[in-house]
Amino acid sequence: MHAQLLTRAQAPLAAREIAAPRPETGQVLIAVKACAVCRTDLHIVDGELARPKLPLVPGHEIVGRVVETGAGVDRFQIGDRVGVPWLGWTCGVCEYCASGRENLCDRARFTGYQIDGGYAELTVADQRYCFAIPVDFDDVAAAPLLCAGLIGHRTFRMAGEGERIGIYGFGAAAHIVAQIARYEGRRIFAFTSPGDAAAQDFARGLGAVWAGGSDEMAPEPLDAALIFAPVGALVPAALKAVKKGGTVVCGGIHMSDIPSFPYAILWEERVLRSVANLTRRDAEEFLALAAKAGIATTTRTYPLAEANRALADLRSGNLEGAAVLVL
Ligand SMILES: [Zn+2]
Ligand SMILES: [Zn+2]
Repeated sequence: MHAQLLTRAQAPLAAREIAAPRPETGQVLIAVKACAVCRTDLHIVDGELARPKLPLVPGHEIVGRVVETGAGVDRFQIGDRVGVPWLGWTCGVCEYCASGRENLCDRARFTGYQIDGGYAELTVADQRYCFAIPVDFDDVAAAPLLCAGLIGHRTFRMAGEGERIGIYGFGAAAHIVAQIARYEGRRIFAFTSPGDAAAQDFARGLGAVWAGGSDEMAPEPLDAALIFAPVGALVPAALKAVKKGGTVVCGGIHMSDIPSFPYAILWEERVLRSVANLTRRDAEEFLALAAKAGIATTTRTYPLAEANRALADLRSGNLEGAAVLVL
């Protein structure tokens, strides 16, 4: 099968013909139809996340059809459409798994990182970590829901119930979260790279009540702020933007170092926290909500063979919404 393969970090993906995977017990073999490109893929390709499986098929926002089932598969049948997210396997017995926090599992394995992912014609996945995709979404539209949507939503949920929500970095995750927030009657304040008028227009088009540069202050104090851009300097900026008791949530898996900042901007019970990975419950809840809220994803499609171009566009910020590889 055709695959785009990471053979070593900090090198472009290589187009290769590799052996098709076979479904083992509990696994489904999936013909990939669409795979969105996540910033985490960039962090893996760029060597910012340590020790990926090598060679590796990246990609963890997979939508495809089941074409074969391994022994014991009972959740899906041949022909079913499924989505495969970042969380690929958990142990089920560690203290985190045992307490409803499988996203923090000590032995978790992740799709497109320790497990081959969706930048290929075929992939296998453990059926327990695959999800039915609501009929409201076609394959391309659904792909960004599997990580940008899911982890974006988990990030948003950690922000509490406040009305005024800041979002730093208006990419794939933000463009979905903004729609959920609006559906829930919240008000979104979007912070982009200074001077990025196109991104600010995009944010306003998705319902943001204000959009400006990350070097600006919002017109009113925020209840919470979400940071999706991998830029540590945004942490003190966001802490300054939230009011007493407000929460700042970092939604990314990697961030540049956070500069030191005065305690005064954290004091008064502001909370700074991160979000890591997802649980299967997050996925079930979010996919149902996405359909109910009528989320419309903005996508730019690329053939599988042009995965490197998709990554380059994401890296340069030359992208509105999400990049999606189509097969
Ligand atoms: Zn575990
Ligand atoms: Zn991701």
